Parts: sequence; structure tokens; C-alpha cells
Amino acid sequence: MENAAEFVVIGGGLAGCATAWHLARAGAEVLLLERDEINAAASGNNSGSIHAQIPVEPFLNQGEAWARRFAPTLRLMVAGIARWKELPAELGAPELEVSTKGGLVVARRAAELDMLSRKAAIERAEGLDVRLLGREELLSLAPYLARDTVGGAFCPIEGKANPLVAAHAFARAAQTAGARIRRRTAVTGLRRDGEAWEVATTAGVVRAHRVLNCAGAEAGKVAAWLGLDLPIEAHPIQVTVTERTAPIVPHLVYSAADRLSLKQTAQGSIVIGGGWPARLDAATGRAVVRMDQLAPNLRLAVEAVPAVARLRVVRSWAAVVNGTQDWRPLLGEIADGVFLCFFPWMGFTAGPHVARLVAELALGRRRRDDPEIAGFAPG
Ligand SMILES: Cc1cc2nc3c(=O)[nH]c(=O)nc-3n(C[C@H](O)[C@H](O)[C@H](O)COP(=O)(O)OP(=O)(O)OC[C@H]3O[C@@H](n4cnc5c(N)ncnc54)[C@H](O)[C@@H]3O)c2cc1C
Repeated sequence: MENAAEFVVIGGGLAGCATAWHLARAGAEVLLLERDEINAAASGNNSGSIHAQIPVEPFLNQGEAWARRFAPTLRLMVAGIARWKELPAELGAPELEVSTKGGLVVARRAAELDMLSRKAAIERAEGLDVRLLGREELLSLAPYLARDTVGGAFCPIEGKANPLVAAHAFARAAQTAGARIRRRTAVTGLRRDGEAWEVATTAGVVRAHRVLNCAGAEAGKVAAWLGLDLPIEAHPIQVTVTERTAPIVPHLVYSAADRLSLKQTAQGSIVIGGGWPARLDAATGRAVVRMDQLAPNLRLAVEAVPAVARLRVVRSWAAVVNGTQDWRPLLGEIADGVFLCFFPWMGFTAGPHVARLVAELALGRRRRDDPEIAGFAPG
């Protein structure tokens, strides 16, 4: 293998491929190392929601004090949505299927509306456009919703994109700009050697001037090689997709009661997720679907959008999501010349934006005290 590179990027998910694109586009010499295949982990197995609202589950579990601490993260998500809209033209990739027709959190009880109103106050204080809708207004905007809804919250900028192709589009653009990509090459250690970093891999040692840790749920293990103990978690979760049907649902739909995200793809399938737990297979270490978690997830979907009840499920799958307890990202320099690009739980939404921020930091084009990034420095 080529034994030197100015920048080594660890990980070929959305974060790594987007970072490689921004580095290569700036004229830097980049080598991306992926232990498996490009887009084979969370980035290629997520449900493709582009979020802007504070998620319901941690709001219910961790409360308003948590939400206020999390709220600055919304700016990165909003900037992420703006980036998604630029990407089809920037990457020459219409197959990204970016659509932002808005997201609806649907309530079936008065107490849920009250919760949405408290959540919206925090979102609005961050500048997010969130509108509380009564039953009639909601049903006229989204006539496919169940009649027993009592109202909801509407955020017009939310939407969806195609996770099967996004990291590939960045990888292609990065390669065209000169980046080298090595698949099936795991990084196994990091060691400082004078002015450079020695990046140990399953295919030999690479010397790098700078290293970008974009290893997703494994980013904590990479940081541990530097003696750092970062609060990075890995959680297996699952998603279900139905057969195709005529267009019914233009929006991203959530439940105000529990974990649900529901959307219709450009091909007509309904994708149902929301972060229901899967499990890790003891023998392979791979995420596998938990059958006992399917019914409650699908029940929420049918309660929100009754037309889903007549569709057949085609497939459920599981993958490991990168998480943190407080849902806040970790972005910045973690050792001299080593940078972390880590956005938990909703890294599909924010990935294209935070990758640019961290690439600019690594290139020396953005200062560490830059207000967009400083509040998310690890440690
Ligand atoms: C089922 C599911 C549904 C989700 N739904 C959504 C959603 O709807 N909207 C949303 O915004 N987010 C969603 N997410 C979260 C989102 O997918 C992730 O936050 C995001 O993809 C993380 O991107 P990443 O590039 O950091 O990590 P990953 O995509 O996990 O990529 C990390 C890569 O690093 C590689 N790697 C790790 N260690 C090494 C090593 N030592 N050497 C070389 N390579 C290494 C891995 O093989 C992997 O390819 C979901 C996640 C899951 C699992």
C-alpha cells in the first residue's frame, strides 16, 4: 500500500466520504481507509430521515433541561438540510432523491400536544420554524393521517434522502478530485512518530500528517488508542420497509407518543423506523432484527397512517447506530493533528455539514474557537 499521505481518513461512511471530498476538493492529498466496504455500516442502513426537530424519545426521557442543552445542535442539523439541497448538483448525483416537504409530529392525546408545545418553544428559541397545528389544520395538510389525531407539530424544512447512495456519491466525487480509497483495510493503531502519525493497518503502516477519525460507532475505540475515553456508544437498531404503493405520504411523519419515523421513498415503499432496538448476534457480532420489537413499531405506524395496514412488509433490517447519552455531537481536534467527526443518532442529517466543518478545521481554514464548532469540542 502507498505508505504516506497528507491526510488519512478512517472510515468510509457518510462522515468519512464527505470529509474526504472536502479535503480532496481543497487540493489536499487524501487516503481513506475502510475496514469493510464503503457505506456498509450505519450510513447505508439508516432510514433516510432528514431531521430538524428535537427528537421525541429523549425529550420524553430526559426532559426540558436536556433539550435546552441539546438545542444548539439543531443549528448543525438545519445547516445539514441546507447542504443536502446543494448535494445533487454539487456531486452530480440526482439519485440522492433529496426531498424536503416537511415533518409532522402527530399527537393523539391532549397531553402529547402539551409536550409538543413545550418542545416547540425550545426549538423556536433556536430559530427553528415549528408550527403547532390543530386537528383540522393538520388533517387538511396531511389527509392520510388517522382521524383520531388531535393535532401536531409541523416543521417545513424536514424531509428525506436516499441512504443507499449518499456516501458512494461523496466517495466518487472525492476520487475524481484525487482522493485514494482503500476498502477492506482496517486501521489497527495510531502512534505519534516525530512530526507525523504512524497509522497501523491490516495492509501495513501509513505515515500521515493529519488523521481524521470518522469511524462512527467505532470512533471511541480509535480515540482510545490515543488514551482518550470519549462517551461514544454503539446501539443496534432496526428499520422496516413495505412493498411499493401509490404516493400517499409526502412528509416525514413522527409520533408524539413514542419512537416512530415514517416516510415514503421515491420508489413508493414506506420506510418505518424510529430507533427501536435490535440485538447483536453473539457469534458474528452483527446487528440482527428483534422480532418482539417489530409489532410496537408497526403499530405506531398504523396508528399514525392507517393506509399502512394494508401493505405487506418486504424486509426488516438492523444496523449499529453511533450514539451519545446526551445526543450531542463530538467535533474537533482530539490530539495534535487528529480530528474527530462524530454526529450521533442523526448523523445522516448532519453528516454532510459537519464533515465540511471538520475538514476545514483539519485544513487550517477554520479556527478551533469558530462559533459553529467550538461548543462541540470533545472532552
Ligand atoms: C438503523 C438506523 C437508522 C438510522 N436512521 C437515521 C435517520 O433516519 N436519519 C439520520 O439522520 N440518521 C439516522 N441514523 C444514524 C446515521 O445513520 C449515523 O449517525 C451516520 O450514518 C453515521 O455516519 P458515520 O460515517 O459517522 O458512521 P458509519 O456509517 O457507521 O461509518 C463508519 C465507518 O467506519 C468504518 N470503521 C470503523 N472502524 C474502522 C477501523 N478501525 N478501520 C477502518 N474503518 C473503520 C466502519 O466499517 C464504517 O464503514 C440511523 C442509523 C441506523 C443504524
